[in-house]
Amino acid sequence: MRPHRIEPLIEAEALAARVRDLAAQISADYQGRDLLIVGVLKGAFVFCADLLRNLHGVHTQVDFIACSSYGVATETSGVVRILKDLNAPVTDREVLLVEDIVDTGLTLQYLQAHLRQQNPRSLRTAVLLDKPYRRQVPVQVDYRGFEIPDLFVVGYGIDWAEHYRHLPYIGAVRFLD
Ligand code: 5GP
Repeated sequence: MRPHRIEPLIEAEALAARVRDLAAQISADYQGRDLLIVGVLKGAFVFCADLLRNLHGVHTQVDFIACSSYGVATETSGVVRILKDLNAPVTDREVLLVEDIVDTGLTLQYLQAHLRQQNPRSLRTAVLLDKPYRRQVPVQVDYRGFEIPDLFVVGYGIDWAEHYRHLPYIGAVRFLD
């Protein structure tokens, strides 16, 4: 790995408070209804778990989809591959796609199209971190945690070459070379 240090960007308490806010909005929007939560592995697994534990009055089911676009680099390749698909089709279900970061928008655009092909009754998207300045394609985001600057971030489930997922906060990788 290139020489670097991790600089805290969003503290654990701020993450917890914002996730509670998002969960309150989602709970209000889907009150008393069935909702299939689709977490995007691996980066969204912590966000997804925390979101789920803060929902109230929603009948939830959970599934996961795994995709890759980065490999071990820190720049998106723009080519999205599905590594693990959902266990069951989402036809006629109310679906909430839960993703860690929207950057160029290519990954979300691909995943939303993939789910829409299966004719869900509704499809909304929750994203923890948004880097709006880097968008290459417009994508719909219904629940957004934080807007962040154009930094490479890790922690709270998000990795750099499989490192740093365990950090309880979001940190920015500062390269020293
Ligand atoms: P996009 O396709 O929108 O350019 O990129 C979205 C995906 O790239 C996210 O799902 C995330 O996995 C990854 N990504 C984007 N920015 C970062 C970042 O700062 N750190 C890490 N670890 N992954 C990122």
